[in-house]
Amino acid sequence: MSADKDCLFCKIVKGEIPCSKVHEDNEFLAFLDIAPVNPGHTLIVPKMHCKNLLDFPKAEETDLVEFIKKVAGAVMKATKAEGFNLGMNNGRASGQLVDHAHFHIIPRFSDDGFRHWPHSKYKEGEMEEVQKKIKSFL
Ligand code: AMP
Ligand code: ZN
Repeated sequence: MSADKDCLFCKIVKGEIPCSKVHEDNEFLAFLDIAPVNPGHTLIVPKMHCKNLLDFPKAEETDLVEFIKKVAGAVMKATKAEGFNLGMNNGRASGQLVDHAHFHIIPRFSDDGFRHWPHSKYKEGEMEEVQKKIKSFL
């Protein structure tokens, strides 16, 4: 998987479009989200183009966790956040707008007023049915 010439984040990785870079190594780049949930909202992208988590190269998986932890720690300290959300949208239905895999590190504060998505309830027997179906693909 090399760069995709039409991909926004590939262009940022190549330096063709500017970004507020906070960190990089050979595999990953971290930069500030241009429209933050809270100040310090940071995106982490693999330098190689891949579409989403399912497309993500296995060889980079372990390094990715290390990279996320390093950057998230720095974001927490810099923003004096009380916590952070690590998020990833996969597919249009989930809210993914840029089709180059990326993780959101969102610094959080107990008084920032944001709420998580609403919860629902399973119908009678539905939970077991879904559980069985997922297990059948593993
Ligand atoms: P997603 O909805 O998960 O695909 O997230 C895409 C994110 O990229 C959004 O939060 C945007 O604010 C952010 N974004 C779009 N263009 C840029 C850019 N040029 N520099 C930094 N962040 C960007
Ligand atoms: Zn890309």
